[in-house]
Amino acid sequence: MKPLLLASGNAHKLEEFRQLLPEIMAVEPAPEDTFFPPEDRETYFGNACLKAMACYPAPGHLILADDSGLEVDALDGRPGLLSSRFAGAGASALMNCQALIRELKEVPSEKRSARFRCVLVLLDGDSGHLVAASQGVTEGRLTRGILGDGGFGYDPLFIPEGYQVTFGILPATIKHRISHRARAVRNLISILDPVPG
Ligand code: IMP
Repeated sequence: MKPLLLASGNAHKLEEFRQLLPEIMAVEPAPEDTFFPPEDRETYFGNACLKAMACYPAPGHLILADDSGLEVDALDGRPGLLSSRFAGAGASALMNCQALIRELKEVPSEKRSARFRCVLVLLDGDSGHLVAASQGVTEGRLTRGILGDGGFGYDPLFIPEGYQVTFGILPATIKHRISHRARAVRNLISILDPVPG
């Protein structure tokens, strides 16, 4: 199989994908000078394609790109596509978390449901053709304050369904089993290598 080139400048994501993908799917980082255009599409799929195309051509490689976000039911699905910029352009993860805590201040416990969604696309780095696309979703609920310092982004606010603590506290091994990204990776692999019968 051709090696994968990850269309992202995010070191956390490179680390996560390396742990999620089987050994046979080696992941290389995008070249440091890759220009990623603003993520201005109306879908996660559109944004993932934008990121993948920013790395095209990549001779001898498959280009893997993802787009992901947090969808909060009490905010009608926001921040969603705008998750990385919830507190404004260039906001840090801490600023985004604090903005979300403020917006949800009056929301009672039973209405604090949310989900992480991840969409993956795989492009052929020689032809530019779409090889596969997949999605993964993890349901959960949001805390009232920051709990834990593991993971990244909104992890310290998100308690996945079936657990009592946030992704900021849970060991990475558990996150890598149940996360939206892990589910999207499993779905992608099942498309690439369908089990007969
Ligand atoms: P993007 O997919 O790089 O556009 O990132 C979207 C944003 O969603 C990130 O900057 C985070 O704020 C949030 N996000 C996506 N995946 C995760 C995750 O696994 N944990 C916490 N936050 C995430």
